[in-house]
Amino acid sequence: MDNNFKRETLCVQAGWQPKKGEPRVLPIYQSTTFKYETSEQMAKLFDLEESGYFYTRLQNPTNEAVAAKIAALEGGVAAILTSSGQAANFFAFFNICEAGDHIVSATSIYGGTYNLLAVTLKKLGIECTFVDQDASEEEISAAFRPNTKLLFGETISNPGVMVLDIEKFARIAHAHGVPLIVDNTFATPINCRPFEWGADIVTHSTTKYMDGHATCVGGCIVDSGNFDWEAHADKFPGLCQPDPSYHGLTYTKAFGKMAYITKATSQLMRDLGSIQSPQNAFLLNLGLETLHLRVPRHCENALAVARWLQKCDKVAWVHYPELDGNPYQELAKKYLPNGSCGVLAFGLKGGRDVAIKFMDSLKLAAIVTHVADARTCVLHPASHTHRQLTDEQLIEAGVAPDLIRFSVGIENVDDIIADIEQALKQ
Ligand SMILES: *Cc1c(COP(=O)(O)O)cnc(C)c1O
Repeated sequence: MDNNFKRETLCVQAGWQPKKGEPRVLPIYQSTTFKYETSEQMAKLFDLEESGYFYTRLQNPTNEAVAAKIAALEGGVAAILTSSGQAANFFAFFNICEAGDHIVSATSIYGGTYNLLAVTLKKLGIECTFVDQDASEEEISAAFRPNTKLLFGETISNPGVMVLDIEKFARIAHAHGVPLIVDNTFATPINCRPFEWGADIVTHSTTKYMDGHATCVGGCIVDSGNFDWEAHADKFPGLCQPDPSYHGLTYTKAFGKMAYITKATSQLMRDLGSIQSPQNAFLLNLGLETLHLRVPRHCENALAVARWLQKCDKVAWVHYPELDGNPYQELAKKYLPNGSCGVLAFGLKGGRDVAIKFMDSLKLAAIVTHVADARTCVLHPASHTHRQLTDEQLIEAGVAPDLIRFSVGIENVDDIIADIEQALKQ
């Protein structure tokens, strides 16, 4: 399959390539294990001398086909599916960080990732410094230390809907000899391909638009193959020095551009086991087949809702990158010329209590933790996903205490607006 096809074609056709007599549609390889003829064939797989399947914790043909589709969509060289978006970010970091290392991350990121970086990784001896993504290159550079191993940000932050200046972040990361990892969940490769702007590794919560129907929790890590690990070998011993758990094999020497994903598969999944189930990968693939149709509709509906809210006198503020006057409009024009995402944030006059009353009065839009699927849904981060954070931490994370996160679905937009209108009257 030619990975230079346009994104729409890749959504439908990339990944599974059946040979003669094989099923046209990606099958679910519902098998933990795979059979070999000789003991030596199997031994070669264990030594990473040959590629193939032996145990689904490491690789499975269904998962591999779906990962290959996402890699093609992002323009990367390899990808791995994980059990969740959280697992994707954790393994993306942990693949190149160990105790004593340091990460620099944008502050306005998904609450779960913030906790991962601020609390859980700290327990493993990995520290994180958070930076304002809109700060100058000098200010962000000041956060780097000799032991910094990566820079992280989200193309469009959840739930703040802030747009990342990917080129600026890439410049800063590369000036410090580390890769830029970008969580591209909200934009999806339909609206932005961070590799084209210098990002080195992309992560996804496939739970969101990629699945698109709120059926499966999942994640994905994609490698561009562009970062030169060997040029910074002292920083990345895990990739550039022999792995004692594989008879002294060195990933960069044995696998070249595939080193990063191969290590994530053969070392991290082997030892920590957070793979996606083949059943979920199958459903994710169905979602991916229509991603290019759904994403533009989400964007079109969200822009209409955002414009309506902007004119409404009960609304204190609306945040959506394409709106006139939005501070991210210029960055959105550059990085997201076809639209940003279906998620917008707004506040109502009267603050927190009014927000809760409004949400309870919605009929079509459901109150759910989820975001970014076919059905319109709504969430109040301060009372839900971010309730562990104080008001101060909320503001630091780009989440105003009165922020309502509204995830616009692909229903008829008139019905969505009518629902908001009736709820505002309550
Ligand atoms: C939801 C989300 C995650 C976490 O993904 P899960 O699949 O829920 O584990 C990470 N990053 C972003 C931007 C998200 O929206």
